[in-house]
Formats: sequence, C-alpha cells, structure tokens
Amino acid sequence: MSSNDNSSNAYSDFHLQFIGGEWQKGKDDSINTDTNPYNGDTIVEIQQATKDQLDEAYDAADQAQAKWAKTTPAERAAVMYKVVNILDQRQDEIVDWLIKESGSTRIKAMVEFSSARAITLEAASFPNRVHGEIRPSNTPGKENFIYREPIGVVAVISPWNFPLHLTQRSIAPALALGNAVVLKPASDTPVTGGLLLAKVFEEAGLPKGLLNVVVGSGSEIGDAIVEHKAPSLVSFTGSTSVGKHIGELANGGEYIKQVALELGGNSPFVVLKDADIEQAVKAAAFGKFLHQGQICIAINRVIVEDEIYDDFVERFLAHVKTLNVGDPNKQDTAVGPIINEKQLKSLKEKIAKAQEEGAKMILSGEIEGQVVPPHIFTEVTREMDLSCNEVFGPLVGIIRAKDEDDALSIANDSMYGLSSAVFTADMQKGLRFARGIRAGMTHINDISVNDESNTPFGGEKNSGIGRFNGEWVLEEFTRTHWISMQNEPRQYPF
Ligand code: NAD
Repeated sequence: MSSNDNSSNAYSDFHLQFIGGEWQKGKDDSINTDTNPYNGDTIVEIQQATKDQLDEAYDAADQAQAKWAKTTPAERAAVMYKVVNILDQRQDEIVDWLIKESGSTRIKAMVEFSSARAITLEAASFPNRVHGEIRPSNTPGKENFIYREPIGVVAVISPWNFPLHLTQRSIAPALALGNAVVLKPASDTPVTGGLLLAKVFEEAGLPKGLLNVVVGSGSEIGDAIVEHKAPSLVSFTGSTSVGKHIGELANGGEYIKQVALELGGNSPFVVLKDADIEQAVKAAAFGKFLHQGQICIAINRVIVEDEIYDDFVERFLAHVKTLNVGDPNKQDTAVGPIINEKQLKSLKEKIAKAQEEGAKMILSGEIEGQVVPPHIFTEVTREMDLSCNEVFGPLVGIIRAKDEDDALSIANDSMYGLSSAVFTADMQKGLRFARGIRAGMTHINDISVNDESNTPFGGEKNSGIGRFNGEWVLEEFTRTHWISMQNEPRQYPF
C-alpha cells in the first residue's frame, strides 16, 4: 500500500455542499462550525443546506440512478477499485483529517482507514456477486424468476465516531449495487463523514448525481431526508433514541420505506475463571479505551468471575495506568479527546452518578479540555447506570459474577444486543457461553470491537435491524422481484 501526502494535491473547499455532482454553497442561514475536538481550532465553516437543496439532491439522485442501474457490473466495480487506489494514495491526508476532525488517535485513525478501505474492496465484488434465481412452479407451464435489482435511491445518515468507515460501509455497497445516495453526515464530522468521500468518488469518476452530500441542521433537513418520497431505504447509524425516531418516520409518514438501523450497544466483556488473565487485561484495555470508548461495540461492561476478580482488577489497573493520554496526533497516544461538549458533560454526570450509586472509583484523573483520562470503577452492580446504559467514553465499571451462569445472566441483562466477548481457556465452554448470549456478534478470547468486511455486522434488541458487510449488505441494498412467465395457456376455474 503506498501513501502520498502531497499537500499541493490535497483536497480543499470543504465549505461547500455536493449536490448533483456540483460543489455549491449551502443556502440556509445557519453555519456548521467544524472544530478540532483536541484544541478547539475551527477547521472549516460550512453554510448549511436548505430543504430545497435536499430536494435538488434527491432529484439528481433519482435521475442518475436509472442510468447507473443499467451499467455493467464491470463499470461499477471499476469505480470501486479506483476509489481503493485513491484511498491508498491519500492515506496520510485522510488519516490526518480523522485525527483533526474526529479526535481519533493515530492508532484509531489507522484502524478506521483500513476498515473503510476493506469495505470498498469488498463492495467492488458486489456487482458480480449479485444474482437471481429460478424456482419451480406448481402451476403447469409456469416459470418463476426471482430478480435482484437495485433498491433505487438510498438515504444514508451516519454518526461521528467512525465517520469515514461507517459512511463508507453504507455508500460503497449502495453505489456498487446500482443505487444512488443522498448522505447526511454527522454535524461533528461533515468532512470525514461525507465531503471527503465525495471528493474521492468524484476523483474516481463516479457519474454526477449518484452521490450527494448534504450538510444541514437536524431541524431543517433531519426529518425531511427520511420523509422524502425518493429514498426506498434509509440506512441510519447512530443512537437508539434517534434510530427509533427515524424508524417511526420511515413507516409512519406518507411513504413507507425500508430501514437499516445500526444503533447503540452495551457490550459485555466476560472473563471466566480459567481465562488467561494477562491477555484478558490487555484486551479489556484496548477494547474499552480505543477511541476513548466512543464506539458502539466498545466494551461497556467488564464482568469477571469472583474467583479471579481481585487479581484481574489489580492487573487491569496497573496496565491502564501505563496508557498515554492527550494529543491524538502523537504516535503513542492511546486516549485522545471526547468529540464535543455535550458528550463531555454526559461523561462528567456519569462519573458523579457512579460514585453516588456506590461504585468504587479506583482510577481517575484531571479532565483537561475535552480529554478525559481513563476512569475505572469496581464493585459495580448490574443495576447501576454504568451497567445499564451505553457509556460512550473512557469510563469502565467492573462487575463481579458469582459463577459462569451468573456471568451469562448479567451479560444478557441489557436492552441492547450488539457485540460481546468472553475469555476462557476452554473453547467448548467459550462456544457454549457465546451461543447463550443474545447479541448479533460474540468474540471468544478477543475484544467486542471487531468488524470484517465479509462477516455480518449488526445487532439485536435495541441495537437495531439489519446487517452490514458481505452478502448480508448485498441483500439489504437490493430488492427482490418475483417475475413469473406462463408459457402455455393456464386453465382457470371460471
Ligand atoms: P446520533 O443518533 O445523535 O446521530 C447520528 C446521526 O443522526 C447524525 O448524523 C445526526 O446528525 C443524525 N440525526 C440526529 N437527529 C436526527 C433527526 N431527527 N433526523 C435525522 N437525522 C438525525 O448518534 P451519534 O451521537 O452521532 O453517534 C453515537 C451513537 O451511535 C451511539 O449510540 C453509538 O452506539 C451509535 N453507533 C452505532 C453503530 C452501529 O453500527 N450499531 C456505529 C456507530 C455508532
């Protein structure tokens, strides 16, 4: 993989919207001020889009899609391969954007870059993998064909935490499968979550109108992007509360739409008494503190069997104390800044609440700017706020389980069901435990943070509906059409 940070060639003009293949100024009165969460610097000011501009984006998408759906699989795959090449050439530039706009540490930015690249490469295979079926018929002389077609126009709404990857994992499959996209990135990451990818696809030669990026306020275009007549599918990644609202809008308005909802999580990380404790400690630290814990599949609850609880806590504390906290741009920083003031406030409240509820805070530290150092709480119970709700920050509660059954019962005691993990030396026990967890994903002897472009990513319960990656997203972003052909006159009863 080659990378080239040729700054004279670097993308610019991120203050504009990308509609119908043209870069144009937003026409709303409001401005999105995109800031660096580490030092508060203003990166870019974007005049936001109006509802009329959203309509324009949908019109462009609608028109472009019909032609795009008729292109050959090879033509669509070629665009995806070009995108992969451009990502490689611009790796340093993109990683730099991820650090300055989303507060990614260098380590996390590289993880994210690799995931975005992998799903693009996977998407390049989709045009040739999509296929129909011929099914037998019980009606004499009939043939049943099941076609798989592009779904049409897809609305994509993405979050700020893994903006490049979580946007790309929707838009690359959608486009590869013959759809057009109108994308609304999160307000905290309009560049890495949208405008930068628009530049990449533009450079790759994607025909105009197929990808539209509309940066706007929730009040102006938030509901409108879902309720608009054009999209047949709304692919939303974000919080459970907003996801519920999107689900209601998509099915309660004038037009019924399919929804793919990738929502919040509360991943349990279970350490059974026969586990390799040293390995579990390292895993727990990485799975919890990567990107300051702001990951839907981050470890949210550490559950440890009683017999090894004290030993685990002691070693975990010692390890976490060695993590570097601060400037995300430094090579060895493990914990960087929190994305915004609102999230910071919520974390401060969680720290206070954990103590009020009786959890023991064994590690804390000064909050400087938006940087929150790791906080560890022990003697946490399943009823406490730290256990019941998604933390989305570098705070962790460690819960004591009486035995394996108790650990499983605690792990399942959540309204979420996204990812999960269990550590044990006994693989059969691990598999039994994993199958007992009600979640979309469980990893034995690894962290809950795993995402591969060819395996199904998604959750159960309040963590959402649908699956990304591989053939699962291939189904999600296409529609089936049963066409039957009567080859001889059928005998009707009357
Ligand atoms: P969020 O729900 O606040 O925002 C997500 C997106 O929705 C943003 O683009 C936001 O601008 C938009 N939005 C907000 N209100 C809207 C409305 N009324 N209509 C239309 N769009 C609206 O979530 P966030 O704070 O950006 O991200 C953090 C949350 O996302 C966490 O709960 C996390 O677990 C979840 N998440 C889930 C996954 C997953 O794959 N399951 C991945 C990443 C993040």
